[in-house]
Amino acid sequence: MTITRFAPSPTGELHLGHAHSALFAFAEAQGARGRFLLRIEDIDRTRCRPEFTQAIRADLSWLGLDWEEPVRIQSEHFEDYRAALDRIDAMGLLYPCFCTRKDIAREVEGAGNAPHGPDGPLYPGHCRLLSQAERTARRESGQSFALRLDMAEAVRRAGPLVWHDRDQGEQIARPELFGDVVLARKDIPASYHLAVTVDDALQGVTLVTRGQDLFEATHVHRLLQSLLGLAVPDYRHHRLLTDESGRRYAKRDRSLTLKALREAGRTPHEVRALAGFGGK
Ligand code: GLU
Ligand code: ZN
Repeated sequence: MTITRFAPSPTGELHLGHAHSALFAFAEAQGARGRFLLRIEDIDRTRCRPEFTQAIRADLSWLGLDWEEPVRIQSEHFEDYRAALDRIDAMGLLYPCFCTRKDIAREVEGAGNAPHGPDGPLYPGHCRLLSQAERTARRESGQSFALRLDMAEAVRRAGPLVWHDRDQGEQIARPELFGDVVLARKDIPASYHLAVTVDDALQGVTLVTRGQDLFEATHVHRLLQSLLGLAVPDYRHHRLLTDESGRRYAKRDRSLTLKALREAGRTPHEVRALAGFGGK
């Protein structure tokens, strides 16, 4: 049974790029007579707004999609992410990072040729080297901290890992590209990598579809699956839609939100075609 999902973050109106992503996941489920799920990735409560969640539902229905209820709302499931964190912590693979953005920028600069990963410069590892006493003292003084994964050690424990992309074939997992990723943010007891991995497993997703921009993130998710003993889905990473000048659609493209297109009198059929799913 194929189970796919569309997992938007409700930080603004959906645009044509989102429509492509949603239609892609939906088509995969339909083509396999499988199931299609919607998940709201709203762990970042400062950026996410409930009215955008409502708008997402309205836009997707209007486009002609339907999904199973109840929709999983990530902000209602922090205990699931906590349980996963505890498990990784019990393996001795997490450490508190007290650094501010500024501290990190300074460390990166000080490191000279700091290695870069898909999301920018890698965390240089300052807090990995703190003593236990220092950690305790800082925690007790009330300093806020994120939890980072000790990547080198996690990779060593997990051993070699592969995952399967249905378009690009077998992939050797290279989570070390990302360095010591944050699994729990200072302000949020989870992170994108953690929540997405836990939820795809809990929801029984068998085929994760998402944009090519998240291709490398899958390396990290594969490692987390291994550490947490989770099932490993297949993957497909779709192309990213661009405007005439070749730029990716983004929030700034107001005129290309589904809402704006609908209000301008476009039909769902026309918008599906604009999103790369014509003739359906
Ligand atoms: N919530 C993520 C986003 O809006 C996508 C998560 C995923 O599909 O893995 O970009
Ligand atoms: Zn730090």
